[in-house]
Amino acid sequence: LVAAFFTIYGQANIFIYIWTAMVLATACTGLFLVWRKGKLVRRETASARGLNKAVRNSTLLGGLWGLLPIIGYGTDHIGTEVLTTAVVSGMMGGGALALHPIPGALRNYVLAMAAGAAIGLIINGGSGSIVMGVLLFVFAFALLRAGFRVGETFMGSKMAAIEIDKQAQTIGMLLRDFEDQARDWLWEVAPDGMMIRGQQQFAKVCGLSEGEFEAFVALAFAGRSERQPGLANVFGLVSRKRALSDVEFSVMNRDMAFWFRVSGRILDDGRFAGVASNITEERLAKEQVARLAHTDMLTGLINRMNFAPAAGTLIEQSHKMDQTVSFICFDLDGFKPVNDTLGHQAGDEVLRRIGKRLRGFAKDGDVVARIGGDEFVFATNRCADANAVKGLAHAILTSLSAPISLETDEVRVGASAGISTTARDGDDLGALMHKADLALYRAKDSGRGHALLFEPDMDQLVAEKRQLKQDLRQALERDEMLLVYQPLIDVQKQEVTAFEALMRWRHPKRGIISPVEFIPAAEESGLINDLSAWGIREACRAAADWPESINVAVNLSPVQFATADVVAMIKAVLQETGLNPKRLEVEITESLFIENTDVVVQQLQALKDIGVSVAIDDFGTGYSSLSYLMRFPFDKLKIDKAFIANLSSDHVSRGILNAIAQLGQALDLNVVAEGVETQEQERYLADVDCAEMQGFLFSQPIGLDDIAPFLLKLKAGQLAGISQSEDKDQVSAAS
Ligand code: C2E
Ligand code: CA
Ligand code: CA
Repeated sequence: LVAAFFTIYGQANIFIYIWTAMVLATACTGLFLVWRKGKLVRRETASARGLNKAVRNSTLLGGLWGLLPIIGYGTDHIGTEVLTTAVVSGMMGGGALALHPIPGALRNYVLAMAAGAAIGLIINGGSGSIVMGVLLFVFAFALLRAGFRVGETFMGSKMAAIEIDKQAQTIGMLLRDFEDQARDWLWEVAPDGMMIRGQQQFAKVCGLSEGEFEAFVALAFAGRSERQPGLANVFGLVSRKRALSDVEFSVMNRDMAFWFRVSGRILDDGRFAGVASNITEERLAKEQVARLAHTDMLTGLINRMNFAPAAGTLIEQSHKMDQTVSFICFDLDGFKPVNDTLGHQAGDEVLRRIGKRLRGFAKDGDVVARIGGDEFVFATNRCADANAVKGLAHAILTSLSAPISLETDEVRVGASAGISTTARDGDDLGALMHKADLALYRAKDSGRGHALLFEPDMDQLVAEKRQLKQDLRQALERDEMLLVYQPLIDVQKQEVTAFEALMRWRHPKRGIISPVEFIPAAEESGLINDLSAWGIREACRAAADWPESINVAVNLSPVQFATADVVAMIKAVLQETGLNPKRLEVEITESLFIENTDVVVQQLQALKDIGVSVAIDDFGTGYSSLSYLMRFPFDKLKIDKAFIANLSSDHVSRGILNAIAQLGQALDLNVVAEGVETQEQERYLADVDCAEMQGFLFSQPIGLDDIAPFLLKLKAGQLAGISQSEDKDQVSAAS
């Protein structure tokens, strides 16, 4: 068109044709490129190289159109000048509009054309062309400004779009991540009960196929899922459109439970949507913790909670193999005093060591448990008969009674054992344990370190004990209690220093019952206070008739100090009987000092204040150290008969005895040896300057009526142990 107009105005020249040819060639190249690609691509993105290319092409294109004013302004015809200005400004405007996204291209394109116009003006500067050239410059400037502005806005919005896109991608990625491998995912159920989201994750966790899981859900939704109670529960709620908040349920697959925690609610359009998480591992961890709680932390043995299932399994399996399961129940002897006097840390250590020793006897399949503070059970199917299990029990007892050396002390706790076996006592665990317990009870009764098998009459023995307690309630009213007296003798002076009052129960059916049997029963039933008050009154009343030089000793049970006002009772008795308080001695055992120390000291001090003297009985059997005992006000120390009995065979006992005797002298304490049965013992005791003695060698406990004859005989020199050892049978008969 330009070439045509130039021709019409008669201004056509060689340059304009060449230029036209160049423009046509450029246009054709462009069209060819588009044709080759097959379509006009709208590009959203460009590489840096692509941009550079665009800038270069724009510059060339701008330069091409910039040639037009150089040619056109040189014609001196207003028509061609106007046409040139119109075409160039049009191209400038159109190009600027198109190129605004690429500021460099825009700038080069516009500036190249403006430069062409300037050159055209300088070379051919006609008056009309100057005006139009200036207009063109202003237009170019305005175009550049506007183009840049639009370009900036375009870039801004493009950058923002890119940023948003990036964010969307990130979120998408995160979501995918969250749903893929995280423990949480979204789930949705259509109003008809079809799962429309999340089923894949549920199925994957349980190791089910998606189809299987959806089938379970459909059943659960319809309320027909007996095999999957957890699902039935949750989808029952979903079908009733109830909101779920952290509901935990399990899905079963081949005996394995897979656990989920779900929340969700019904949406406006009837869909049910929420989040689900896989908490199977969490549950397993919790169960692990619970399992740990089943083992005893201290000893590492099975604890009480876990014992029944473990023992149950052992019984079941052994039953199939026709094997006998034996239950050996152990109870430690003298553990409490260790715990109380040496502290809980020492107690814990003792239990740990005992546990370790017990474990040492266990082989594969045995069940070793700690079922109480100091109670243990050893269950095994390796003992074919009663003898075998008794042998094992004794071996364990021997091991348990070996000394345990702690940081500063060495302690010795023994144990007693009760045994039941499936062969003798049936398959019921509860009954087996009960029977082992009864046997243990009997074993403890018969002294430390025994192991007894359950015998059917043991049930009866327990019943008898219950009966005994009942009978004891009426014993005082029925006048069945009596006291016997055993003398304490100063061997050097050949004099009785005191008589110890010892209680007996003349039972209407069973005959004379020993205090060893009924005192514990009285302590357990609370009758001890009445019994003791009666005994002390009787003893004081009797002693009031004796020579002034002879004291009376009474035994007090530790239980009395805790449950009654011992001091008030003794004061009342003394007042009632008129006995000089100085003639009353109370005997207490070390175990008294273990609890309520301050209260006990106060009461003992109150007794001493009125003149009553206090003796420590059975000295050496407890666990109190001597320095500990020295904090208590006492006047006499009675060495336990066990030491005396062992004198001839046990050099350790001799050492202890020597030490105690010396200590007594140093502290100005009366030391008494009880349980003196032989002249050899008597001689030895005399050698260590232990002058006061009590025992069958001198006299059995005797009735009140026998006291006067006894004193007479003693005075006549006929009854001192030294000369009386051969008469033991006769004395026994008397008691
Ligand atoms: P205990 O206070 O140590 O009493 C000494 C026990 O040793 C008495 O047994 C006595 O008969 C016995 N015995 C005395 N000489 C010998 C001997 O040479 N060899 C042997 N092997 N034993 C000897 P008993 O009378 O059966 O009393 C047992 C325990 O019952 C007493 O031990 C005492 O702790 C308790 N007891 C007795 N009467 C009472 C009472 O009235 N009140 C309280 N609370 N306890 C009492
Ligand atoms: Ca005593
Ligand atoms: Ca004693």
